[in-house]
Amino acid sequence: MTSPRLLVNSETTKYPIYIDTDLRYQTYELINKSLDKKASAFIIIADDTVAGLYLDEIVQSFPAENKPYVATVPSGEASKSFEQYERLLTECLKNGLDRQAVIIALGGGVTGDLAGFVAASYMRGVRYVQMPSTLLAHDSSVGGKTGINHPLGKNLIGAFHPPSAVIYDSGMLNTLPEKEWRSGFAEVIKHGFIADPSFIKWVEENIQSFKSIKTDVLNELLRRSIKVKAEIVEKDEKEQGIRAFLNFGHTLAHSIEAELGYGRMTHGEAVAVGMLFALKLSEKVYKHSLEYESTCKYMNTLGYRLEIPAECNRDRLLERMKLDKKASYKQINFVLLKELGHPELLPVKENDISELLKKEGNL
Ligand code: NAD
Ligand code: MG
Repeated sequence: MTSPRLLVNSETTKYPIYIDTDLRYQTYELINKSLDKKASAFIIIADDTVAGLYLDEIVQSFPAENKPYVATVPSGEASKSFEQYERLLTECLKNGLDRQAVIIALGGGVTGDLAGFVAASYMRGVRYVQMPSTLLAHDSSVGGKTGINHPLGKNLIGAFHPPSAVIYDSGMLNTLPEKEWRSGFAEVIKHGFIADPSFIKWVEENIQSFKSIKTDVLNELLRRSIKVKAEIVEKDEKEQGIRAFLNFGHTLAHSIEAELGYGRMTHGEAVAVGMLFALKLSEKVYKHSLEYESTCKYMNTLGYRLEIPAECNRDRLLERMKLDKKASYKQINFVLLKELGHPELLPVKENDISELLKKEGNL
């Protein structure tokens, strides 16, 4: 019998996170165990690539008299759209789902955010369960942020709506392409930098390549990385304070992604570049040195390129940073590390950022 590996327990919500190999065969049982009130019906909202790989096995875990409805969405960021959102609401209505229905989000962060937002708004909110299928989704499936993109920007429309459970079948990661591993793994390293440097050491010792990760190591990797995120969102669900630390490396990363055009670099590849920049900026601001050389070398061996892409323009990167959600009154705020594992959100002088961009990025 599987028991939860972690529990998110915040002021307003409590939900289990199950992490193990082959949990998909127990989907129905695990969901029912997690719900305080029975579901009237289920609908699985799935990324179509992931559905092709795992949907049958998941549906088989449901009894004949209680099979879920299924709606798939095209794989990729473009599905976090008003169009798909409306289509999914229509599917729910056409199937007659009521307020006791439960949505199951099967896929990566795109599906989780989209299906989560459908759940947040359908009939003013129904329950949903996250079944993450990417490494990056260890980050997106926990914490209750849901939403879609607006043509004017990413993640601008959404709601806080925590899931009733997260069922993380690490066996589904076997089919994940290398570049998606790299994207999600940057957030793992981030969790180490902001809260648990010993975790980075453990990762460096135990993982030499994405393809050769042992099952137990992967489950432990997910558990420790999610634990960092869960402990932060438990204390600050709505991002009034310390949840901002999760944006370590993201100020520059978001600017690079926007500057290059979304999709050129994966989110995590850009976060890796942003983290190195934030580490160097921390050294400049606090006037001390931090030990991260070995981690950079390690990340290089995993295929990360940590330099700022040469086609980025310094002034445009700065302008974009001023538009960052963490900026206030055009003052750029950065998550910096006083020491490894000790983040602070600080306003940083534009000139300091500009100088470092020039020095590090040759921009
Ligand atoms: P994604 O959902 O697009 O998945 C990446 C790719 O991997 C897709 O092509 C998908 O089809 C494929 N895929 C997924 N699982 C697979 C599997 N098991 N085997 C083979 N292929 C598989 O992207 P993502 O990187 O998981 O998530 C990115 C999204 O997450 C972004 O939209 C971002 O805004 C969001 N996000 C949300 C939060 C949050 O707190 N809500 C946090 C971080 C990121
Ligand atoms: Mg991120």
